[in-house]
Amino acid sequence: LKKQVDQQDSLNSIGHMAASIAHEIRNPMTSLKGFVDLLKLNCNDDHQNYLSVMDSELQRMESILTELLYLSKPKERSYDETSIKLVVNEVIELMLPHAMSQNILLKMDDCDYYPMYIRGNHNRLKQMLINLVKNAIEVMCNGGVITIKLENRNGGVEVSVIDEGRGLTDTEMDQLFTPFFTTKSTGTGLGLSLVKKVVEEHNGTINVESSVGLGTTFRIALPVCKRQFLRQDDDNVIEMWMDF
Ligand code: ADP
Ligand code: MG
Repeated sequence: LKKQVDQQDSLNSIGHMAASIAHEIRNPMTSLKGFVDLLKLNCNDDHQNYLSVMDSELQRMESILTELLYLSKPKERSYDETSIKLVVNEVIELMLPHAMSQNILLKMDDCDYYPMYIRGNHNRLKQMLINLVKNAIEVMCNGGVITIKLENRNGGVEVSVIDEGRGLTDTEMDQLFTPFFTTKSTGTGLGLSLVKKVVEEHNGTINVESSVGLGTTFRIALPVCKRQFLRQDDDNVIEMWMDF
């Protein structure tokens, strides 16, 4: 038991340290960005190109800091009854314009799903799904369909993000959740670390299936705290809820 407590402590202090460093680096970066903008106003074409590179690299540093800060956040204290279907709807609404601009259809498939609630944090779950959908959009350069599927499985809810992208090689599959692993020139490699963290915070599990050239499915199973069921009484169908 003692070992476990120690480990937890050191994890917390690493998170705390990461957060402080991220904060400290933000200020000097803001002034760098300011001077890059200033130089852009008055320089030749060659230098304009250098400054664009500096700009996009600064942008990438900014993303790394934002994601590191998000990752190092301690687990939210308030966990409420959360409708996973509402989370999915909000994510689709948010990501649809970007998906459509890339010729991608983003849709929900909830055919075999009846309403359930999980004990969780709405915003963290939303952030988790946004990261998965973003990754899916980024690997579907020729357009296609991304499906977020909701199913009832083994007494819990399963959320799958299914893409028609290029799929994953065996080596990519091995390193997928390693912090800072990325195959993108502007990636941070922290998106899936966040996904994994949020899943673990909700006592869920995640698994990945992929075939090269066909696509990838990220499947997340979450325990449920409240479930709807229907009862037929004479001519009436009555909605009832069962707690867990
Ligand atoms: P980032 O998106 O910044 O690269 P992530 O942690 O979100 O970081 O993803 C890490 C890597 O995993 C990506 O660079 C990509 O190579 C791979 N990956 C993630 N999602 C998918 C997907 N849906 N299809 C194919 N590869 C993926
Ligand atoms: Mg990503």
